[in-house]
Amino acid sequence: MSENLKINDNSKYNKNNKNNIPNDDPNKIEKLTNAGKIHNKVMEEALKLIKPGEKLYNVAEYVENRIRELGGQVAFPCNISINEVAAHYTPYYGDKKVFSEGDLVKLDIGVHIDGYIADGALTIDLSNSYNDLKKASEYALNQAINEIIPPMNVGEIGAIIQGAIEGYGYKPISNLSGHVMEKYVLHSGISIPNVKENSKDFIDVGDVVAIEPFATDGFGQVVDGVERYIFKYLNTRPVRLPLAKTLLKLIEKKYPSLPFSEREVLKENSKYKLALKNLMNSGCIYGYPVLIEKNRGMVSQSEHTVLITENGAKIITKS
Ligand code: MN
Ligand code: MN
Repeated sequence: MSENLKINDNSKYNKNNKNNIPNDDPNKIEKLTNAGKIHNKVMEEALKLIKPGEKLYNVAEYVENRIRELGGQVAFPCNISINEVAAHYTPYYGDKKVFSEGDLVKLDIGVHIDGYIADGALTIDLSNSYNDLKKASEYALNQAINEIIPPMNVGEIGAIIQGAIEGYGYKPISNLSGHVMEKYVLHSGISIPNVKENSKDFIDVGDVVAIEPFATDGFGQVVDGVERYIFKYLNTRPVRLPLAKTLLKLIEKKYPSLPFSEREVLKENSKYKLALKNLMNSGCIYGYPVLIEKNRGMVSQSEHTVLITENGAKIITKS
C-alpha cells in the first residue's frame, strides 16, 4: 500500500497502538525474509489468475487465503486498482466487478510474519498498449534500489524516481509515496517521495523500506474518490449503536494496527455495513478513500520492500 500523507500512524505517537513493541526481535531478518518469500510465491500465482472475465473478488480472496495457507498473515487487504485508480481499491463484499481486456491492473500485496511486513506491487497490462508506462515505474524502482547507499536522504531517492519516470515521458505521482515500516506498522512516519524533495529524513542500515513509484500519463497527482473499502483502527471512543460497539471490539482485537477490509468485516455479519460507517463518523476508524488520478490518466505502479544493509538495498519481495 502507499502513503498519501493524510494520516500519521507513527506508532511512537499513537498511544492506542497495542502492538507498539520495540524492534528487538532477534529473528527480524528471518521473519522478514520468509514474509518476502510468501509474497513472491503468492504474487506469481495471482498473476496467472488476472484475465479478462475473472472477478477481482476471487483474486483478492485467493491472495489473502494463500498468504495464510503458506504460513503468513495478511498485512493489508489485497489492493487491485485498475486504470486511473492508482491505489486503495479492494473488492467489497459481494463485488461482481471483472477484469476487462483493456485494463491496466495494479496488484499490491502485503504479507507479514509476527509484524514484519513485505509490501510489494506490480502492474499487469491486459491491453498490451501501456508497455512503456509499465516500464517507467519498473525502471524507476530498479534505479532507486540500485542507487541506495546508506545513509541516504529520502529526497534524493525521490529525485532518482522522478528522473527515471520523466525519462520515459511520463509523470511520477507526487502525492503518493513509499514508506519506512516497523513491526506491525505500515508507515513509520518517514515517507519515500516519488519526486525530488528537500527532506530532513534519511534511511539507514537496518531500515525496512517500501519503495513504490507510480507513473502516469495524466496530471501526476491523485485525488480522493468517494469509495472506501479499506479501514484502519484509530482509537476507542464512545459509540451508541450496539452493533457498532460489537464491531469496534472485534476490530480492536483482530486489527489493532494493520488495515482491514470491508469484505472481511461483512463476511462476519453483513449488518456491519452501517456499523462501519458509524465507527468512521465517530473517529474510531479511518476509511482509506480509493485514490484516483486527477486527470483520469492511466497509472502504473511498481513496489518492492527492501532491507537497507551496509552494501545497499536488499530486495525482500523477490526470491
Ligand atoms: Mn507500500
Ligand atoms: Mn503496497
